[in-house]
Amino acid sequence: MPDTLPLARTNAEARLYLSLQPCDSCGDTHCTFRSAVITHDGILASRYTGDCPNCAAQRVYEFRLPAQVLPPPAGAVRFGEDSPSELLDPGTWLWYADTCLRQVPTTTTGLDDRTTKAARHTLATAIAALEEVLKFIPPTEDRVPLSAFTSATGLALHAREPGRFTRPRLEAVRDHYAATLTAFTPSAD
Ligand SMILES: [Zn+2]
Repeated sequence: MPDTLPLARTNAEARLYLSLQPCDSCGDTHCTFRSAVITHDGILASRYTGDCPNCAAQRVYEFRLPAQVLPPPAGAVRFGEDSPSELLDPGTWLWYADTCLRQVPTTTTGLDDRTTKAARHTLATAIAALEEVLKFIPPTEDRVPLSAFTSATGLALHAREPGRFTRPRLEAVRDHYAATLTAFTPSAD
């Protein structure tokens, strides 16, 4: 275990990170993790454990807990406070936003309430992921600095489409989907 555990700002962030980690033994990414709060060198931490369904290896991850634990907001998705993620780089967040958006139907016509609700959650997750990309932009700059990219996925996406990581573009995309979100509110009746 490293001396300093990486910070997981929320359970949602830890769960997303875990879903992207391959098993060390076989590379499978499907694993159901249980979480517990533990003490690590005198500080509170969260530990996620699971058994790989493919090779049965035990998988263990530990994260630092934030000073103040954020409750999940009602009807919205939040991966953390204003500081950028220590677990996932901006390219991975944008890739994840794309992945979510591909699952959202283009229209609510003909959807039942349950499907509409699921689509709404997926869309809200994509918006939260776009917010995470924006957090990597320093206040005086207008784009995510190249130094922020640390993953192969993130670097590849940046190399392909660097223009997607500017503040105006990210804010425009986020605002567009935030407006779309209102169409996915289930009817009250
Ligand atoms: Zn495995």
